Amino acid sequence: MTGTALFDLLERLTSLMRVWNRQHPLLADLQPIQVSALLYLARCNHYSNTPLAVTEYLGLTKGTVSQSLKALEAKGLIVKTQDPRDKRSVHLQLTEAARTLVAELVPPQFLGTALGRMGGQADELERLFGLLLRTIQQSEEVPSFGLCHSCRFHQQHDGQPFCGLTREPLAPAAIGLICREHQPPEEAA
Ligand code: SF4
Repeated sequence: MTGTALFDLLERLTSLMRVWNRQHPLLADLQPIQVSALLYLARCNHYSNTPLAVTEYLGLTKGTVSQSLKALEAKGLIVKTQDPRDKRSVHLQLTEAARTLVAELVPPQFLGTALGRMGGQADELERLFGLLLRTIQQSEEVPSFGLCHSCRFHQQHDGQPFCGLTREPLAPAAIGLICREHQPPEEAA
């Protein structure tokens, strides 16, 4: 397998996603990068909602991301808050309007419909896409930005989720969020 056919499929699916976003009435005002930043901020944890983390996740320049974040702030979709422990650091949070918007968008209706029609094969597809992503990330040594519950630092203390890296307790809802510090279990010593 050369990967060309799979590459074509991924390209086509990405194009369809962009077209859907452009045509969606709730997204008419937003550039694709602003949508991507918003969707990331809706899915990441409190260690990962900084401008730098958004930049790393999207793989774009600081300047480009900074302009997009300013635009989202001006549209009333995100707010900046100062880190209580590090006054130089800011966190970006979605406003209620943005949360409502994201809830309308994710997952896209066409995707949910197609997966529903695929039945049990949809679960296998999700598993294989996850495997593909992890394999690429390992071989290219790029940050995983994985979900907290699959991290090698994820622990349970007194029946509650706990981060073994930061040595802090985690909210139960946080274990399903994206973290910039995530490391896959395969790398455990
Ligand atoms: S356990 Fe891993 S993914 Fe979860 S908060 Fe800690 S470093 Fe991040």
